[in-house]
Amino acid sequence: MPNLVVVGSLALDTVKTPFGKVTDAFGGAAAYASYAASFFAKAGVVGVVGSDFPGRHLQLLRQRGISAEGVVVNGSGKTFRWEGYYEYDMNDAKTLSTDLGVFANFKPVLPESFKDAAYVFLANIDPQLQFDVLQQVKKPKLVLLDTMNYWIANKRRQLVEVVKKVDILLLNDSEARQLFGTPNLVKAAAAALKLGPKYVIIKKGEHGALLFSEGSHFSAPGYPLETIKDPTGCGDSFAGAMIGYLAGKGASSEKDIRKAIIYGSVVASFNAEGFSLERMKRLTNNEIDARYNEFQRICQF
Ligand code: AMP
Repeated sequence: MPNLVVVGSLALDTVKTPFGKVTDAFGGAAAYASYAASFFAKAGVVGVVGSDFPGRHLQLLRQRGISAEGVVVNGSGKTFRWEGYYEYDMNDAKTLSTDLGVFANFKPVLPESFKDAAYVFLANIDPQLQFDVLQQVKKPKLVLLDTMNYWIANKRRQLVEVVKKVDILLLNDSEARQLFGTPNLVKAAAAALKLGPKYVIIKKGEHGALLFSEGSHFSAPGYPLETIKDPTGCGDSFAGAMIGYLAGKGASSEKDIRKAIIYGSVVASFNAEGFSLERMKRLTNNEIDARYNEFQRICQF
């Protein structure tokens, strides 16, 4: 029985960076997030794929103990596809195309065994789907929500409705500015907290992440990586590892959220070392712990 439910895109990604290119590679927010979470907790994925989705991708998730019981295979449509590229500033993903495919008409129905999960990650997808999934979880203890510019631009009203229902809102800096109409991140965070979440986390790409709550503030550095091949999925693996750590510990205090942000930063930094899920596939808990300890040394003064 999963203790963490993840809803989000399951995708075939075509991505180009200055260091290479992949075509129709396994990706999507729910794929990166559940894989990252699997180092810490038992996750279950909710989503949909089309008839063109290779079975080995779901098998890869299952091998990590992730439940794919909530993944529907819709034989009459195509899998969600995202195509994008990065230039030398790899903090900035440029989208060439987004094709929702089978996600356009998806109505999520949670398997019975998912409904008692205490932790929920509403990863990047249509905010209406995020809302529908959250409604079906009986008594969530901690709900984390991520989104992106596409949904802020296209489904803003639905997005604000779901933001009101979550404990932690996760945004990158440009999304925070876009959603709250201010260039100032402190003001954007204050506006976000007013909507209902107890915490707001603003990711700043390779420069780390900021945590805001009423009256408190925490800043995590980015890990100084020498090899970056493809940052796709870093936001999702950050979030997945973060909530996975909390779910594995049964925790939700601010002190634990700070540690969880460091675990998120660690797993995201590994993810950037390869295309698609390639680097995470080789990742071990020992490597995660070693880099976590390095982070502690980086932050000490
Ligand atoms: P990130 O962690 O922000 O780099 O997320 C990258 C992943 O998000 C890719 O694997 C894409 O398939 C997925 N993605 C891109 N655009 C969207 C969208 N509009 N909704 C949901 N997922 C998306």
